[in-house]
This record gives sequence, C-alpha cells and structure tokens, in this order.
Amino acid sequence: MDADVARSDTTLITVIPGDGIGPEVVTSAQRIVEASGAAIKWEECEAGAEVFKKGLPSGVPTETIESISRTRIVLKGPLETPVGFGEKSANVTLRKLFETYANIRPARELPGVTTPYSGRGIDLVVVRENVEDLYAGIEYMQTPGVAQALKIISRKGCEKIVRTAFELALAEGREKVHCATKANIMKFTEGMLKRVFEEVAREYPDIEANHIIVDNCAHQLVKRPEQFDVIVTTNMNGDILSDESSALVGGLGFAPSANIGNEVAIFEAVHGSAPKYAGKDVINPTALILTAVMMLRHIGEFDAAADVEHAVLVTLESGVRTGDIAGYDKGAATTAYTDAIIGNLGKRSEKWKVRDYKPLRLPHLGTDIDFVKPKTRAVVGLDVFVESPLPPAELGASLMDLTRDSRLSLKMIGNRGTKVFPPTGAITDVADHYRCRFVIREKPGDLSDDEVHELLQRISLQHRWMHIEKLLEFDDELGFTRDQGEN
Ligand code: NAP
Repeated sequence: MDADVARSDTTLITVIPGDGIGPEVVTSAQRIVEASGAAIKWEECEAGAEVFKKGLPSGVPTETIESISRTRIVLKGPLETPVGFGEKSANVTLRKLFETYANIRPARELPGVTTPYSGRGIDLVVVRENVEDLYAGIEYMQTPGVAQALKIISRKGCEKIVRTAFELALAEGREKVHCATKANIMKFTEGMLKRVFEEVAREYPDIEANHIIVDNCAHQLVKRPEQFDVIVTTNMNGDILSDESSALVGGLGFAPSANIGNEVAIFEAVHGSAPKYAGKDVINPTALILTAVMMLRHIGEFDAAADVEHAVLVTLESGVRTGDIAGYDKGAATTAYTDAIIGNLGKRSEKWKVRDYKPLRLPHLGTDIDFVKPKTRAVVGLDVFVESPLPPAELGASLMDLTRDSRLSLKMIGNRGTKVFPPTGAITDVADHYRCRFVIREKPGDLSDDEVHELLQRISLQHRWMHIEKLLEFDDELGFTRDQGEN
C-alpha cells in the first residue's frame, strides 16, 4: 500500500526510542500525540547502539525491518553511529533500505526562541534528496595517496525530489520553489537536477520557480532568509543547507524532519543522541514533537496535527522553555514542558499561526529500471586512469608510443581535472593519478569491447591502470566532461 493512500481508523506506527536522549524525546512526543486524540497504536522496536553492541553490524534487527515493512510509518529517536570502526550509520541504513527519497526539513520562527533573525518571519522548508549523491557512500582508494567517491545522481531520483518539492508547495500553500545546485561546475550530476527542475516547473505555473547556485543560497540564507519558501536540492547540499536553516530559527532543539518515500515514511528529529544530557530530564523535545506533527499530517490526522502545533506555539509564547534556551539552571524539565503542551491542547495563539495543510501527493513514476531510453548511443573513446610516478610528458610519450598503430589516439592526459599533457603552460602540482583520454581517430566511430581490452593490454605492458570510463554519447550529446584546459 502506498503511504499516501487513506488508512483504516487506527494507524499502527513503529516507534524506535533510539539512543541517548532518544527515549526521553520519543516518550514526550508519544504522550502528546496520545493526548491529542489521534487514532494511533505503537509497535516498539529497537535499533542503534544496543544492537551494534550485540554484534549486528547494520544496527537494525530483522524484527525492526519486518515491523516497518508492515506499518510503513516510523517515529524514531536518534541512533548513535559507532565512531572509528567499520559499522555504517543505522539511520542511513533505515533511510536507504526503504527508499525514503525525500528528506523534508521545515524551519520556522517560533515564539520565545530569540535569534538574530527574530521578527523576520522565517518559514521555509528544505527538501533534500535523501538516497543518492555522494551519500551513496561508494568510495575507492585509487592509488595509495588518492581517494575517490562516486557522486551518483539519477534522472528518476531528480524527478522524484523535484515533484515532491512542488507538491509540497501546493500542499502547504507556499508560493515559491528554489532549486539549489552546483550545476555551473558539475554539469551532469548537479546539472541533472537543474534541468529536471526547469522541465517540471512548467507543470506548476502558479508556483514561482527559481534556480540558485548553492553557495549563493547558503549566503542568501544568512543574509535574507525570509525570501525562501521551499528549497529543493541534492543530498550533500541539502545536508548543509538544512542544518544552516535550522540554526536560523533556534537550532537542533527545534528542527523536525521527515524521510518520505512512496512506501515508507520515517519521522525523526534532526538532532542526535546528545549523550551528555541522556536521562537527566533536561533536553528540549520540541524537534521530535514537531516531527510527530509532520507524521500526523502524513497519516491524515490533520486536526490532531494542528492541535499539537498550536499547543507548542501557545506553550512557547507563554514563556515555558527548556534549558537549551532558558539556561539549564532555570529551564523547564522535559517532562514539565511536555505536561505544559498537553495542558495547552485545544488553545490557539492570537499571533502565531499554523498553515492550512492539504495531503501531500507523492510522485509515482514508472518502474522501468532503464528509466531514460536514448534513441542512439555510441562509445567514442576511453578514459584510462593510470597510477604513475612519471611526469606528464614522459607518461604522454610512452602512451603515444604504445598506441601508435591503434585505432585510438591519446587526446590528452589530465590530473585531478586539469589537462597536463600536451602541455598548456599551466603550472600544476600533479598526483600519481592520471586520466588518460583516448579517442577514435576516424569519426564517427563506435568502440568495441575487444578494442577496449586490446588498449588495456597495451597499457598494462608498461603502466598500472586502476579504472576505466567509456566515453559515451547518447542521442549525439557528449556524455563526459572535458578537463580544464582541454578543447
Ligand atoms: P547531537 O546529539 O545532535 O548533539 C550536539 C549538541 O546539540 C548537544 O550537545 C546539544 O548542544 C545540542 N542538542 C542536540 N539535541 C538537543 C535537544 N533535543 N535539546 C537541546 N539541545 C540539543 O550531535 P552529536 O553530539 O554530533 O552526535 C551524538 C550522536 O548522535 C552521534 O553518535 C551521532 O552519530 C548521532 N546522531 C544521530 C542522528 C540521527 O539519529 N538522525 C543525527 C545526528 C547525530 P549543547 O552541547 O550546546 O547543549
């Protein structure tokens, strides 16, 4: 069943208390949700530190995965990621196992949470792609001294996140969507998001669509954050921009988030397990309470969600605040703050408003694995990455010699993205990681795999290669970038 399809009366939710302060913030949110009258039942499961200690490297037991597969909705506390040994983050594992492709992080000004931006009415949402990009975590040591990470961005992933952003704008009555990318530098990966954004934007003529270069977006967020409504961006950019946005409105104690997919949605605060505060009844549960508000809306409990959000606003407005903003010597205890919110359920603030939310319509794209089908394709050359201690001129002379009677000729050698052979006059500090570009001498041409093997055999006679990339053209468009200085 799709997560955005209407459910039966009572919704079963997998709840993961998590580590450190997790159980305290989760209990606070559960108590408030129950008091709101929402029709919910909890199924408690474990993940995180205790599970790692039992020797399970994923940190997520099978029972938890089975529960999530059944309930499709998760409210979770933070999970500690062991530092310094091999385990992956259990958080990232959960997000990726269930293809929660959109990370939605709202940031709004709250009463009594004084920041340098108070009074400017910040109310924005960062929609971050959640499963692709550098966060796929595919990394290789290429030479003993050179590491590589793959930044994988798919057309389908871009379309899902962009459509989610526009649909979110509609569901929340927002007027603008900014797409923040580094497309000026990474034309294929970041550029894919920009191109898809520009295409999809035409289907939403009532929403203002702007592209912004991500570094300027970070700058504008500090300078004039109130200009933003929805920001859609790639995983890495979104990680940074969403933390920046939450800092503008009071920081981690107030930053909710939702990981949304077509099948499963995982609701968690942005903050971690803050171990030094664990068990002390002092931390701020607002982030997880506002996260639970997002969850209530997701399951169609719009009235309960609005009641809880209003109660949080009324409580903060009345001056009840936790130690992170009031000072730990005089702030309200986590439990007392929770009691105050429960006591304020049903009340409305005169000044602080809650948006009128509609159901979020998630995109349902085709299921074809080869989502984009070109009419034509050709292999027009080969990049061979070579580990070599030789200076560029010597490596170049050797490779030209090795391919003298081949159908492929050495076009150039690059080093970390800059052409170093034939010489350009540039002064470059080279590493032992060369990209050697071979192209077919006569055009048009299509390189066969036999020719690839033959070239590699020739190179192996004198050099150590560590990986190759075919130079592809799809529909007569180049599918590879040139090095700096290459024509
Ligand atoms: P953190 O747990 O978020 O805590 C950093 C600091 O933020 C705290 O020391 C505290 O600041 C403040 N803070 C965080 N949550 C707060 C709250 N609810 N109320 C008041 N203040 C709060 O970040 P970390 O220390 O980098 O990470 C600790 C562990 O959590 C790590 O194992 C990390 O991997 C994990 N983590 C998990 C998640 C997740 O499950 N989604 C996310 C992030 C980190 P002050 O010290 O200034 O008071």
